[in-house]
Amino acid sequence: MPDFKVHILGCGSATPTARHRPACQVVDAHGKLFMFDCGECAQLEFRHQSLKFSRLGHIFISHMHGDHFLGLPGLLSTMALHQKDGELTVHIHPEGAALLRRIMDVLCRDTGYTLSYDIIQPGETRVLYEDRSLTVSTFPLYHRVPCSGFFIREKQPRRPLRADMLEHYDVPVAARRAIAEGADYTAPDGRVIPNAWLTRDPMPPASYAYCSDTMRDERVARAVSGVRTIYHESTYDDAQAFKAAPRGHSTARDAAIIARMAGAQTLVLGHYSKTILDEQALVAQAAEEFDGRITAAREGLVFNA
Ligand SMILES: [Zn+2]
Repeated sequence: MPDFKVHILGCGSATPTARHRPACQVVDAHGKLFMFDCGECAQLEFRHQSLKFSRLGHIFISHMHGDHFLGLPGLLSTMALHQKDGELTVHIHPEGAALLRRIMDVLCRDTGYTLSYDIIQPGETRVLYEDRSLTVSTFPLYHRVPCSGFFIREKQPRRPLRADMLEHYDVPVAARRAIAEGADYTAPDGRVIPNAWLTRDPMPPASYAYCSDTMRDERVARAVSGVRTIYHESTYDDAQAFKAAPRGHSTARDAAIIARMAGAQTLVLGHYSKTILDEQALVAQAAEEFDGRITAAREGLVFNA
């Protein structure tokens, strides 16, 4: 089972509704949780999905519209009450950091965890987080206010050793580390056993692009070129396409065009307007532009990226 799952906590736009909660997603990868946007209701859905505060170390906020931010003060307060410790970094635009600092100063001075801010400058492209197994980078989106997308990429894993072949070629334990790092094996009689015979192909690395609020813009496709799974907002359907660009949003068809241009295998739709009552109609419209797999996000959905 791949160690890279995406949880949808909220996929509506503007306000909470009876159908959807505002924007929030969590990527669960290699034992760590990464949250993308934090609309109202995020902490409720976080608990519904049995996610653990102790594993959450990074929160990424795409822009300062309430449906992407208003859950954050509540979540941070709850985490303080639950005595979360360790480090928590909020990656956010400058005015968001200034606002959140002020709120936390008034509401919640004492946190068991160390809260730090990584300021994302509007328009910048940069790696925000990196460890041995993955990177998270940011790139610009094209909305009514400065807005940033996020691209989460697993690093190419090493080729796993094949126990059956190591035994077959009588490879001593002392030689296995070098093989795991990519070396061929030279047997005592001088025969060279190629690395590919002693190891197997690893799972292809996962990659996921989070494109929260944006009008259709081919620069987005270029920024995430080659991504395996793209989440791209689809606030409107074809009938409301006239509203999309003036409001800095996209239709499901726009999202599909960007997914196709990026070469993605899977498109996830979301950020639905409250006027959208049939998400499957959005999937059908997107399918006219994109041949890959298309999924309509819903709260509680979990998928491998
Ligand atoms: Zn917005």
